[in-house]
Amino acid sequence: MIVIKGVPASPGIAIGRAYVLENEEIVISRVDIPKQQIRVEVKRFKLALEATHRDLDATETKVLKMLGKEHARLIDTHRLILRDPLITKDVPKRIQDEKVNAEFALSEALEVVNQAFEKMHDEFFRERRHDLFDVGKRLLSHLLKTEKKTLSDVKRPSILVSRNLLPSDTLNLKENNILGFVTDLGGKTSHTAILAQSMEIPAVVGLSDASHRIKAGDEVILDGDQGLVIIHPSPEAVVKYEKVRERSIQEEEVLEKLRGVPASTADGKRFKMAVNLDTLEELKTTLLLKPDGVGLFRTEYLFLNRTTAPSEEEQTEAYSKVAEAMSPHPLVIRTADIGGDRLSQLGLEGPKNEANPFMGLRGIRLFLRHSELLKTQFRAILRATLQGRVSVLLPMVSSLRELQSARRIFFQAQQELLAEGVPLPKKTPVGIMVEIPSAAILLDHFLEEADYVSIGTNDLIQYTLAVDRINEEVAHLYDPYHPAVLRLLHGIVETTHKHGKKVTVCGEMTSDPKAVPLLIGLGVDVLSVTPRMYLRVKQILRSLRFSDAQAMVAKALKQSDSSEIRKLVGEL
Ligand code: PEP
Ligand code: MG
Repeated sequence: MIVIKGVPASPGIAIGRAYVLENEEIVISRVDIPKQQIRVEVKRFKLALEATHRDLDATETKVLKMLGKEHARLIDTHRLILRDPLITKDVPKRIQDEKVNAEFALSEALEVVNQAFEKMHDEFFRERRHDLFDVGKRLLSHLLKTEKKTLSDVKRPSILVSRNLLPSDTLNLKENNILGFVTDLGGKTSHTAILAQSMEIPAVVGLSDASHRIKAGDEVILDGDQGLVIIHPSPEAVVKYEKVRERSIQEEEVLEKLRGVPASTADGKRFKMAVNLDTLEELKTTLLLKPDGVGLFRTEYLFLNRTTAPSEEEQTEAYSKVAEAMSPHPLVIRTADIGGDRLSQLGLEGPKNEANPFMGLRGIRLFLRHSELLKTQFRAILRATLQGRVSVLLPMVSSLRELQSARRIFFQAQQELLAEGVPLPKKTPVGIMVEIPSAAILLDHFLEEADYVSIGTNDLIQYTLAVDRINEEVAHLYDPYHPAVLRLLHGIVETTHKHGKKVTVCGEMTSDPKAVPLLIGLGVDVLSVTPRMYLRVKQILRSLRFSDAQAMVAKALKQSDSSEIRKLVGEL
């Protein structure tokens, strides 16, 4: 039994025989051509370019049909590469200057682009090397007139093993008997991985040499949750994984029954359970959960991995889509929280080489510095109010002045739209994320101007305990059960309720089954949960008695050590 570890790209477990797509190594040799053949070679290259564009068009049509517009955008990256002058201009120039065959000129040009990508520090751009590889392979296969292998001859359910997989190949897997796939290349943010998740195909990528180590017909277990591939598993391992698979299917079936059932405790206290949404792509599966709304729509995805900010139109379209889909349930749209570990390529003045990015120009600080971005986002959010119950949430607020400045810009955006004749609701609530201790401590003042509160436990814990949330060296100190955290949470809930306003919790603590009883006992109004954990958390909530949870929290608040708090929660 051999276990290899890769990158978990798409969750789920698959057990089966390997179908290995041979590594189609294309050997390119340099052929010197006479001067009179230059035109012919350039023409051949142009025809291959056109054919590759046609391939992409066909793929796009397929993606549009199967997965929708969001995914079809992925094809644009391939088009951009194909249109890059480093390909379109450089290859004909090389053919001409060096008097070489088109294949050789192309492979040289691709290598230059590949090296440029390789030097980039940003994972997203480095990841695009795989897109370059895909496009290059398509182009070469048109030049060499080799047909791409198809998957239609996979006769029994199998696990696909290959060096790399094109996003377009991913679309055909389910209809071709493929239970899951493993690849040597690829990362979590590759388009292939994103598609695999959407299509619910388990996948492990980035395994370096799996396509050499696994032979056709080998028995393989693919664990997409842990990123493991087990070759020649022992009978015990197969039994174990079959059980795991079975159990998760059974659990899913039980949980499915909780869709649309009220989030009430066993003694009848009703809570609201919303979901956190990180991209528009998750909307479809999220709706199936029948949540009480979207408690946090993180909008950063619209601003990352691109060099220009999204337009008001693009943002309005995205927000309106979610607002309409959720209506009549509420949608909370958070203005972009860029900075910290979410670095943008927008070329904004500001967060570059900060020694402490989490303490730096992040969230509302950055957007107040670039108030044009904030105003555009506010305008787009306000325009989405036409489609549903929308409210605004401001991230990383640390002083009252920031809230006031943001509200002024929000007011300007409202006035502008009204002057343009856009009908707006009388009031669009503006809330603050309480995720910096200063906001928690001064909350009574903030509540004079904030319509509601949403607790971001991820940041609140990191700033309260001075523990960088992504630094594994101090991960053991990151402690949601720390008595100081519990007291702070208690204070936030009390103060907000005293002002007659509502409090949501939207950090990962809502998605930690063990921590949920604390939040229930604290009496928060809304839990905004990551979609994957939504039904499980509802199941826990429904099994608890509110009065017991309250009594447990009352005791927990008296403790001085987190282990005592953990114990109390565990005993509930
Ligand atoms: C949080 O800090 O808890 C939160 C929800 O915000 P993010 O994780 O996006 O920083
Ligand atoms: Mg946060």
